[in-house]
Order: sequence, then structure tokens, then C-alpha cells
Amino acid sequence: MDLTPAAGGSRTPRFLSFHARDVLIVAILVFVAAIAGSLSRPAGFLAAFWPANAVLAGVLVRSLQLRTLPVILGAAIGYLAAAMVVGDSLRLALVLTGGNLVGVLAFTLLFGALDPEDQALSRPQGVISLLLMTCAASAAAGIVGGVALSEISGRSYFEAWAGWFAAELVNYLALLPVMLTVPPPSKWLPLPRLRPGRVWQALLPVMGLAAAIGLSLLVTRPIGIVFPVPALIWCALTLPLAATAVLVMIYSGLAMIGIKLGLFDLGLGADVTGDAITAVHLGVALVALGPMVIASVNAERRRRIEQLERLARHDSLTDALTRSTFMEAGTGLLAELLEDEAAVAVLVLDADNFKQINDVHGHPSGDRVLVAVAAAIRTAIRQGDLFGRIGGEEFALVLPRVSRREAQAVAERMRKAVANLAVVLESGSLQRITVSIGVAFDASSRTGLSEMVSLADRAMYEAKRAGRDQVVICDLENSERPPMQ
Ligand code: GH3
Ligand code: MG
Ligand code: MG
Repeated sequence: MDLTPAAGGSRTPRFLSFHARDVLIVAILVFVAAIAGSLSRPAGFLAAFWPANAVLAGVLVRSLQLRTLPVILGAAIGYLAAAMVVGDSLRLALVLTGGNLVGVLAFTLLFGALDPEDQALSRPQGVISLLLMTCAASAAAGIVGGVALSEISGRSYFEAWAGWFAAELVNYLALLPVMLTVPPPSKWLPLPRLRPGRVWQALLPVMGLAAAIGLSLLVTRPIGIVFPVPALIWCALTLPLAATAVLVMIYSGLAMIGIKLGLFDLGLGADVTGDAITAVHLGVALVALGPMVIASVNAERRRRIEQLERLARHDSLTDALTRSTFMEAGTGLLAELLEDEAAVAVLVLDADNFKQINDVHGHPSGDRVLVAVAAAIRTAIRQGDLFGRIGGEEFALVLPRVSRREAQAVAERMRKAVANLAVVLESGSLQRITVSIGVAFDASSRTGLSEMVSLADRAMYEAKRAGRDQVVICDLENSERPPMQ
């Protein structure tokens, strides 16, 4: 059943619309995660490992489409069914489900309102918000859950609230970074291809982490628990955010299991199920948050550098490559083509009588025309072609692995695309524009880029002399100029 309103169709409010499949998937997900958690629940205590809430909260934060009443009801049924399967009374199951859902909904409402960059933890404010909002959500969940916990443990309501708060927070902090950063399954394939040098760069900190975890198992003192933290920081500085989140989760999971198995002498004696252990778990989860902050600072820094590099490489008006980037990338491309003795064409395009447009309509109108010309040229380029702005109203392209005929056809297509433009100027009037195009073609890429550009430039001036709005080809095989070695 699909009750999602069609565009402009029925008026079902968004929070009521749903896909039956989504409800079923969420109900099953919650059921399975709750069963897994219940298996780790000692009598009289909360489950030490309770992934259901963090998984549900992560799914709801990442998918607006799932934030609907029917999906929440599906999740409630998942929790209830799991509680009934493990033998809880209906009343207890209802209160436990209430506690779980209050926390998840509080977190989803708070965190779901943040900027998407913060939700993806791709800047440090996101990690800090995660900490504050999981605290708030866990406190809210404890208000309801504390009722159930004081009932099953016989402790005071306040103690039960605190116990629920800490357990809920540990699970959120350990699992949510992964839920919020791992790419959706549809993007898992194909795996990114890494150069061998990069593989080692990524593997070394992971090996360092494995070694530190091994070492911490040898040292039975409490200090051993934090041995892997420097290695996690190394991972955070080297690996993508999601990979760091997964390693942080593995570390906190292993540390918590180690504590539970009594591998570190914490002086807790036989009390391996109570509040003391939860407090230590909470300490581990908070310590593990440090590397996450570093990973997100690093992710933000990488993104900003990429933005700056992109800005430096591209002309801000037309988004074509700048002259220097075009020449650098083109020289590299020609060297590759020379190795394969593949053909190449270099095109130079110059707007015809462009000065007149500036003179009559002003510079801003001239800019509009340039933007439209660049967009029209772009309609005819293929992936792998280089496109740069090499002068005021002059563009150039490198077309790798083309035949002479294809190069001519591409140039013609560009000429026509520009000639068909009617650019709306600032004044509202329509402006026509044409380009003259020179093509230099080399069947075996033996000529350097500067030479190819100047040959294409010469052909372009030939086109100007012949009356503009035309394509002229300079074929190196047939030209009187000998190809450069
Ligand atoms: P031709 O057909 O012979 O190429 O004539 P033209 O008028 O296009 O050539 P000319 O070299 O005389 O004029 C080019 C003009 O391009 C002059 C310059 O002011 C203008 N121009 C260069 N860069 C920009 C720019 O970024 N924006 C605008 N609006 N004009 C620019
Ligand atoms: Mg011109
Ligand atoms: Mg010019």
C-alpha cells in the first residue's frame, strides 16, 4: 500500500503518508536489534548492548521520508514484539517501549533539525551537538524508562532514571557516529580504487590500532583501556570520517566487552552488571568521542581545501578551467596521449565582435553573454575533454582520442550551439552571438600543447578573416608546418 500523495494529488498530511514496505522494514529492523539487545540483558538490569534505539534514531535522522506516524507505530510494534518474545509482561513491554521511543523521538526531533553537514558529523559542531542531544534524549527516555527499570530492579525511581540515562547514552555514543556517517548501501559499490601508496597510508594506522588493542589486553591495569586512543587519533587524521566512526565503534565495543569479561582490573569486584560498570562504559564512550571530533575537524578541513582548490582551478565567471590549470592539465593529457600515439585535437574559440556588446550594453551584459557562450560550448563536450578560458572572450579545448572528422563535427556543433543562442541582457533585450573556431589536429599527439594552441589560434584568425562564425582546421599531417618533435 502506498499512501504517499502524488504531486498535486490527495491531501494526506506528510506525517501520515507512508510506504507499507518502509513500515515493515523498520519494524523488522527494530525487532531484530531489540532481540539482539535482549540477549545481553541480565536479570534485573538493562541490556548492556542495546542497538535498537541508536539504529532507529540513525535511520530516522537520515531519512526524512521515514519520519512519519505509521513508521513510528511500526517501530513500536517491533519493540513490543521483541519484549513479548523474550517473555516480558505486556505492561512491562509497553513501558520499556515507551522509554525507547521517547528517547529516539526526542533525539530525532532535536538532531533532525540541524544543518545536514552537522547531521553527517562532517564538522566538529555536529559531534558536540550529538553529545548534547543524546544527553537530552537519554534524560527524556529515562523519565519513562525509569518506571520500568525501578520495577524490574527494585531500585528507587531516581536511581533507575540515572541507570537508564547512562545505558541509553553509551549506546547512542557508540553506535550513532557510524549510523550517521556510513554511506547508504546504494553507494557501497563500486569500491573506490586506491593507489598502493594510499592503501599503505590507510592500513598503517589501522595496524597501529590493532597493535594498541593487543597491547592493552596484555596490560591488565585500567590504563590499558585507553592505550588505543592515540592510534584512533592517527586513524582520525588519516582515514575518511565513516571509517574512523567504524573503528571508534569497534574500539568502544571491544573495551566494553573487555571490562565485562573482567580483563581490566577496575576494582569493581563481582559487580560487573551494575551502575558502576555502566559508568565505566560511559567513560569509554566519552573518551572515544575525542577521535570523532578530530575526524570531523579533519573532514571539514579537507572539504574546505577541496573547495579552495576548485575555486583556484576554475574561472569564477564561466566555471571553465583557468588558463594556467588548462595548460597544466592539457600538457599532462598530451603526454599520456603521446605514449599511446593517440590522436588529439585542440580547439580555440573566440567570440565575434564581442567588444561591441560591451560598448553598447555594458560590461555586465557582456558577462552574461560569456556565461551563455561557455554553457553552449559545454553542451558539446564529452567526459575527458578539457575546457578552459584562456583569454577574455577566448576559450580552448583539448579533445583526446578523436578523429579529424569527429573534431570537426564537435567544433561545428559548438559553433551552431552558440549561433542559436539568444541571450537575455540586463535590459531585457535579446543578444545574438557567434564564435570563430580554429582546430589543430594531430593524429599522434607529437606536438606540444603551446604549439597546438598557437596553431589553433592561427586557424581561428583564419576563420575571422573568412567572415567569422566558422570553423577552420589546421591538420598537422597536411600542413606545411613540420610537426614538432
Ligand atoms: P573579434 O571578432 O575580432 O574577436 O572582435 P572582438 O570585439 O570580439 O575582439 P576584441 O579583442 O576587440 O574585444 C574583446 C573584448 O572582450 C574586449 C574586452 O573588453 C572584452 N572582455 C574581455 N574579458 C571580458 C570579461 O570578462 N567580461 C566582459 N564583459 N568583457 C570582456
Ligand atoms: Mg573576439
Ligand atoms: Mg579575443
